[in-house]
Amino acid sequence: MSPGAMEPPMTGTPLLQADDLRKTYGGFVAVDGVSLTLRDGGSLAVVGESGSGKTTTARMIAGLERPTSGRVSVSGVTRAERRGDRLRRAGEIQMVFQDPYSSLDRRQRVRDAIGEVLALHERLSGTALRARVAELLDQVGLDGRQADALPRSLSGGQRQRVAIARALAVRPRVLILDEAVAALDVSVQAQILTLLAGIRARSGVAYLFITHDLGIVRHVCDDVAVMRGGRVVERGPVERVLSAPEHPYTRALLDSVPRRGWTPRRGLT
Ligand code: ADP
Ligand code: MG
Repeated sequence: MSPGAMEPPMTGTPLLQADDLRKTYGGFVAVDGVSLTLRDGGSLAVVGESGSGKTTTARMIAGLERPTSGRVSVSGVTRAERRGDRLRRAGEIQMVFQDPYSSLDRRQRVRDAIGEVLALHERLSGTALRARVAELLDQVGLDGRQADALPRSLSGGQRQRVAIARALAVRPRVLILDEAVAALDVSVQAQILTLLAGIRARSGVAYLFITHDLGIVRHVCDDVAVMRGGRVVERGPVERVLSAPEHPYTRALLDSVPRRGWTPRRGLT
């Protein structure tokens, strides 16, 4: 672990800063003044029920949606200033979605899905490209058999591992995971959460971890922001928010979480 990791969370320029983000659709306010801060190598959960504005917030941060107002900066540089520089922007923030099947090309073998990203972003080819593909797959617990597979012959968990490897291929500073484990069985969820925790510890990538499920945030996140109706109603360290929630909505969310019997360790295969 680098010495910097021991410093208090919010000293210096944050890695990611979202200031007063707003998004309206016609007269409807989907996101209503959301500000979020993520430190280098940190992990922030954004939690709230369906329709609370989590995905819209994530898409604005990733640059997939233009905010009605507000701004997003990475290492103090406003994302809008990078508008003409798509590769550079993509290299800062990557996103993993709930359904990896929809973001993978059905006719493309796993190694080509990852290889094309490497060819574009790192201009790798030949042996170097094959070695980096193998390294990325190894990082997500996949091997040569899966590398030659098409998405349809993989399990849901394996597909999500491919999506994570593909996102990590550009060495992003921030990985946004939007309900990335929501469609998986509980035991597979546990494996993916364990994998994500390990990847962050080794690589120092920061997570914006979006979920409707407050029960899973303690396994991957340091901090949490609770959203309701387009606003953040509570935020703080995960331990504090889970053990002593201050907002009634957070308490209601916590009460709706079923107790689960697994730990990240037991999730290991
Ligand atoms: P969450 O991810 O928390 O479920 P979303 O950010 O997807 O919430 O949606 C927040 C609100 O904004 C919802 O009421 C949704 O219907 C609305 N919304 C999202 N995208 C659009 C859009 N493109 N046009 C109109 N309304 C939208
Ligand atoms: Mg959503």
